[in-house]
Amino acid sequence: MTNALISGDRVIEELKKATAETLAIDVTTIQTDSSLVRDLGAESLDFLDINYRIEQTFAIKMARHFIIEHIEEMFGEGTALDSDGKLTDKAVKLMRIRLEAASEGIDIETLKPGMDMDALPVLITIRSMARGIIDILDTLPETCPECGSSAWKTDDGTHIVCGSCAAMAVYNNGDDLIKEWLQKTQDEHKII
Ligand SMILES: [Zn+2]
Repeated sequence: MTNALISGDRVIEELKKATAETLAIDVTTIQTDSSLVRDLGAESLDFLDINYRIEQTFAIKMARHFIIEHIEEMFGEGTALDSDGKLTDKAVKLMRIRLEAASEGIDIETLKPGMDMDALPVLITIRSMARGIIDILDTLPETCPECGSSAWKTDDGTHIVCGSCAAMAVYNNGDDLIKEWLQKTQDEHKII
């Protein structure tokens, strides 16, 4: 269901804060469409740090693997990356569907077959990361799995607990959500 307790604006605000703390930059210099790598100078270890902060903030589990890695694992070696480690056109088709659906403000024409996997992080923006966080938060179940109450509440605006038994909200993790999406999209579009 849509998570009515945590707004998209709050997610973006917390993500900007986590990014500013990780990169030791002023939060006001971060735009929603900033590319973390190109505009803010993030390196791969910084992503781990930002993810960790976000996981603490919202009590969620972010995806550990890129979509490319999931495609290879689900549909077989060579389906997403060719023998030179370049993106296949099947991988590009899948990723373009995902980026278009999320309307992440990314120019999808920059995503091309033959592109190096290392070039992908440039496409990650605050907005696209926030989308992933919101997808996870939207897996909040209708009712508390512990007591069946639907009285979810939040005191700090980021952590949700059951208003009846005080159990912490449980969400699907980011990797499972990517896998579900890949399977659904593959069933629908038969790309691979
Ligand atoms: Zn409960």
